Amino acid sequence: MPELPEVETIVRGLRPLVGSRIRRAEILDPRIRVAADRLAGETLESVERRGKHIVFRVSGDWSLIIHLRMSGRLLLSCAEEELPHVRFRLHLDRGVVSFVNPRRLGTVDLLRGPFDRRLGIDPLSEEFTPEALHDLLRGTKRPIKLALTDQRRIAGLGNIYAAEALWRAGIAPRRPGNRIARKRIDALHREIVDLLEEAIRHSGTSFGVSVADYRDPGGNDGEFGEMLAVYGREGRTCRRCGAAIARTVQASRSTYWCPKCQH
Ligand SMILES: [Zn+2]
Repeated sequence: MPELPEVETIVRGLRPLVGSRIRRAEILDPRIRVAADRLAGETLESVERRGKHIVFRVSGDWSLIIHLRMSGRLLLSCAEEELPHVRFRLHLDRGVVSFVNPRRLGTVDLLRGPFDRRLGIDPLSEEFTPEALHDLLRGTKRPIKLALTDQRRIAGLGNIYAAEALWRAGIAPRRPGNRIARKRIDALHREIVDLLEEAIRHSGTSFGVSVADYRDPGGNDGEFGEMLAVYGREGRTCRRCGAAIARTVQASRSTYWCPKCQH
């Protein structure tokens, strides 16, 4: 599932379209019910990331919001190429954005006014300080991994990057949020920010296995997958201590971690 680095990579890749006029918006999936014809003739004013949402701000005070969910890609092309599983298309003067959504789990919404969904702190924003992370965790007995992936607390971290950040900080994913010393929270904060910035520099994580896998807007794989320390590495050697990476299940999702050097 695309997380913050993948969505940020997509948003950056689409930004050259800002200032371009929308010729038309085309719906190719009857499940997408938005008044797409309202966008014709308007101008794309910005492309922003909010958590894992991609927000196109359009003149006339429109916000077009795309969430990729488990699968889904936004591809940018100059011409109208034939692509499989395209569910929505934005035709602009300077290019075509195609929303490829094989499992149809991704969503498209159009609303008047700014995107106003209440989300947690963005880990790449100035508000995300060690103090803020400490405040978020102080009041929760929930396992740290589940607290980190709760979008109402922190917006943008998911299964992959939460596991990686905890490995880097040496914190066990089951440890209750309120049982982590302040010094270790400071370290976790630093690791989250470093990890996300590194992943963005490598255009995010792709696994190269399925049609639903993440791609950047140019259709390229992310290169951070090779740098993952724990995610998807069950039974393989921990790069820090040499023990075998374990997989456990939390809230019906896999958690990868090192039982020896994360505590
Ligand atoms: Zn280890």
